[in-house]
Amino acid sequence: MDHTKPLSPLIDLIAKEFPQFYVSVFTNGMSQTIIPAYTQSDVRPFEVCFVPRLQMRGLPALLYYKAEWRALMIAAVDWPEQVFPALTIHELGHALYHRQGRPSATAPPTSDSYIEEEITMHELESLVLNSYSDGGYFQTIDELLRKYRISDTRDLDRLSTSENFLSLDKALRADQTSVAVASILAAQHELAVGMRFIDATEEDHARRLQKKIALYRHLRFGR
Ligand SMILES: [Zn+2]
Repeated sequence: MDHTKPLSPLIDLIAKEFPQFYVSVFTNGMSQTIIPAYTQSDVRPFEVCFVPRLQMRGLPALLYYKAEWRALMIAAVDWPEQVFPALTIHELGHALYHRQGRPSATAPPTSDSYIEEEITMHELESLVLNSYSDGGYFQTIDELLRKYRISDTRDLDRLSTSENFLSLDKALRADQTSVAVASILAAQHELAVGMRFIDATEEDHARRLQKKIALYRHLRFGR
């Protein structure tokens, strides 16, 4: 793979928007800054908040963007090295869209607009996973699509087995991870496989997006 080529313009935007971080710790529902940002005046620093194991109860996810605090929340679990950057960039993408005031950032979770933003971030995540695995992620997805002779998005459910997800975890060298991290990855894998199939089979841009939105609804809301 050509590692000198930029992966995505969105990653450049994220890097430009969040050049400075400060680190906090989540304690009894509040955040306590432990490492302040040393910023120049024109930079708005971004909060990265770590959640200790004993404080994890009731968290909506192990890694997520908390819009009320405009902060990236990261639970103190063992994150596999190959997947952590991809999961983080996904959440920073949400943070960027929120800062930009995009309607999708505050839209209801079942709306097209919200789902479109999720699709954008999951595609970004796929790109980073593929890059960190030297192309192994997309290669394994393509092998699965061929092996199962997928010809319609309705066939994709057949492919969503724990064995197949494990082969994708292996491509990412993340197959020795905890159940909690594996389930985050499984949610990414099933979407990534479907979106890659749609990209390969639907040429029309608008229809491609509609198919991805329908796929997301099916996977997340069972519709
Ligand atoms: Zn997301």
